[in-house]
Amino acid sequence: MSALVLTALSKRFGTTCAVDDITLTIPQNAFFSILGPSGCGKSTLLRLIAGLERPDKGTITIDGQDMTHVPAYRRPTNMIFQDYALFPHLSVADNIAYGLHNDNLSRTQINQRVTDAMALVRIEPYRARRPHQLSGGQRQRTALARALVKRPKILLLDEPLSALDRQLREIMREELVRLKDHLGITFVFVTHDQDDALCLSDHIAVMFDGQCKQTATPQELYHRPRNIEIATFMGKMNTFKAQVIDDDPHNPRLDCDQLGSWHIDPTRADTTPGDCMIGLRPESLRLCRSHDDADITTPGHIERVSFLGDRSLIHARLSRGASILVSHTHPAIEGQQEVLVGFSREDVLILNNEDP
Ligand code: ATP
Repeated sequence: MSALVLTALSKRFGTTCAVDDITLTIPQNAFFSILGPSGCGKSTLLRLIAGLERPDKGTITIDGQDMTHVPAYRRPTNMIFQDYALFPHLSVADNIAYGLHNDNLSRTQINQRVTDAMALVRIEPYRARRPHQLSGGQRQRTALARALVKRPKILLLDEPLSALDRQLREIMREELVRLKDHLGITFVFVTHDQDDALCLSDHIAVMFDGQCKQTATPQELYHRPRNIEIATFMGKMNTFKAQVIDDDPHNPRLDCDQLGSWHIDPTRADTTPGDCMIGLRPESLRLCRSHDDADITTPGHIERVSFLGDRSLIHARLSRGASILVSHTHPAIEGQQEVLVGFSREDVLILNNEDP
């Protein structure tokens, strides 16, 4: 049985359609991310799942039970808010215990649950501190413990890493994965950060303008995005106008003003004849010594090199005019020189502007 099923869910605020007819199935024990730019409706979707907003249309089913009209406090979900929403006047332990007071538990049971939750997120040494006496990471752990102490079936996380610096963010990513594996609960994680979504999730739903545009594994989304909008949102992508020509249907061709013309595999699912866009990730491109070093090569000129530590990003200008980004690992490379940019045929994504 799926942990969570959303069916044709919609929510409007005045003229804004924050969530527009979303249907999603989230498996048990998944780390499921909802990824999209600011204002696309991610938080509203999470609040609908939590019961903090009422949908205009659609249904929400958790563990096979219709929860659409069940109030938030009776849903088996718990939410961690972007700003953690800790009570400033309560200690870490009291913040964590707060949600248990209406659960008919004895003081001993509450203390045990709080101690267990603090151990789970490694916050015990700070149990007596107030939120303002904690670092961002410690506040985040307290919020996690406060949500987990209720033993939810689904943990809803609204951009919980966004306030953390890069190093802490990486530590907390590891913590979240460890917790998910250890607890066997379903995580629904909202973020606008592609890196967080790619490295944490089993599945990602990409949202734009209130709609869910593609749901897939991180690998599928990155390597087989459904359209240009998703392709460019999921990391850097060079895009060019092109045409699929099928004079000979057994041997179709791709024509691109900037990159040239080459035959493509007719069994590719994306080879509809006519205008298209093509995409090439910077890491699919390389600098070649000769035309024999890659399926397709095209001359250009390095304009600028951005050094990124483990690699460099080359900003090149093709001799036919377009600019192109090439990821380059070694050796170090100088700017302002003529180069030959090459790539393999199968690394070219053929993309549409519209959803199929
Ligand atoms: P962010 O990443 O910036 O938090 P988001 O993707 O979570 O954005 P939402 O907060 O869900 O987006 O907002 C979606 C749209 O709905 C936005 O246009 C927002 O202004 C609007 N909206 C959200 N809540 C309300 C509200 N209570 N009243 C009116 N409009 C709202």
